[in-house]
Amino acid sequence: MPHDTLGAVYQDILRRNPGEAEFHQAVREVLESIAPVVDRHPEYAESRIIERICEPERQIIFRVPWEDDRGRVHVNRGFRVEFNSALGPYKGGLRFHPSVYLGIVKFLGFEQIFKNGLTGLPIGGGKGGADFDPKGRSAREVMRFCQSFMTELHRHIGEHTDVPAGDIGVGQREIGYLFGQYKRITNRYESGVITGKGLAYGGAQVRTEATGYGCAFFVEEMLRARGTSFDGRRVVVSGSGNVAVYTIEKIQQLGGTVVACSDSSGYVVDEKGIDLDLLKEIKQVERARLDVYAARRGADAVHVPGGGVWSVPCEVAMPSATQNEITGADAEALVRSGCVAVGEGANMPATPEAVRVFRQAGVAFAPGKAANAGGVATSALEMQQNASRDSWTFAHSEDRLREIMIGIHARCLAAADEYGVPGDYVAGANIEGFRRVADAMLALGLI
Ligand code: GLU
Repeated sequence: MPHDTLGAVYQDILRRNPGEAEFHQAVREVLESIAPVVDRHPEYAESRIIERICEPERQIIFRVPWEDDRGRVHVNRGFRVEFNSALGPYKGGLRFHPSVYLGIVKFLGFEQIFKNGLTGLPIGGGKGGADFDPKGRSAREVMRFCQSFMTELHRHIGEHTDVPAGDIGVGQREIGYLFGQYKRITNRYESGVITGKGLAYGGAQVRTEATGYGCAFFVEEMLRARGTSFDGRRVVVSGSGNVAVYTIEKIQQLGGTVVACSDSSGYVVDEKGIDLDLLKEIKQVERARLDVYAARRGADAVHVPGGGVWSVPCEVAMPSATQNEITGADAEALVRSGCVAVGEGANMPATPEAVRVFRQAGVAFAPGKAANAGGVATSALEMQQNASRDSWTFAHSEDRLREIMIGIHARCLAAADEYGVPGDYVAGANIEGFRRVADAMLALGLI
């Protein structure tokens, strides 16, 4: 940590939040970028803005009991971290995955504050989830879990208070169950209380596609700034969930060839380009794994069990699976294979070592809080449509998303220029996101 005051603040955060490695990593990364801003603006340190931003406004931890199809009782732990509401109601997804604990939820909530600030829309930062593993669970079990989760969560959320959405393990099906239980308990058809809903009950066009499409738009802008584009580029996308699938779709529309994607079973290499209809059928309809994709695609595709998708050579890498999935060694392999741009579809998928390798090699690197902000931005558009009891067309919604991503890209570059680090999207995103939230907090008094 280069800066004395920030170094002391960081040590204090380590001491007060023991054992939360991912949260420490996310905080450190932001503090490293904003050191010059704090130097230039003593009012931030004087009013202890950094300490205040790093301390969640409220943290809720609760029991989630539920019964499986055989009548056995299970107990999971649910979380909602309401991190910062200076810019608007807390906004951020729910993650259902066995790895979820307070440190993961806090890292995601912390990132969400700046991401949401970068969109320029009136949304604060929050995140939640549970250590529930949906893998292998029937739809009825998932429904019972969602109902139990919402039975507690409903008292903490509201369209003007806290608005959850999906994340890993929480898609449109789960949002439907969660919203249904909220509606039943409260007797309010409060569409704006949760986003990512189905189109039939208050959902918004393009919300499903938004994170992936937005990420592709952001990287397209980055490539344009360097005088090039996706056209004819060889791309690797990790993951095969919601973010990955729609990243692949938009990159294909923009003329790129996605040659590999992955899941927990391993990865597939498909040199002719991923067959998106087949991928959607297997991942979204059958909820099966990628070995089934390779088997059905025939000789064109190879399934490799285990990790290692970053050993597939590419010009553009779009990590869209989960945190810390690209190590320093993976980054070196990518750079050697000719990778010129990286767009983080997931939250914090590149380790600090990997980010260092990319920056040193001059790779255009888009951090998640900028590149994947299209998902939450389109959630804010869903809230707008719910508040005005309106629904927009697909074309209009996609245009809005594209404008928002172009705007975020421009603001990151402008902030990086202002602080003498041109083309550094990590610094630009952190500086711009931080300033927006910090200035609102100063304006609102000691909160
Ligand atoms: N979970 C997504 C994210 O990481 C979306 C959050 C939302 O739409 O509220 O930004």
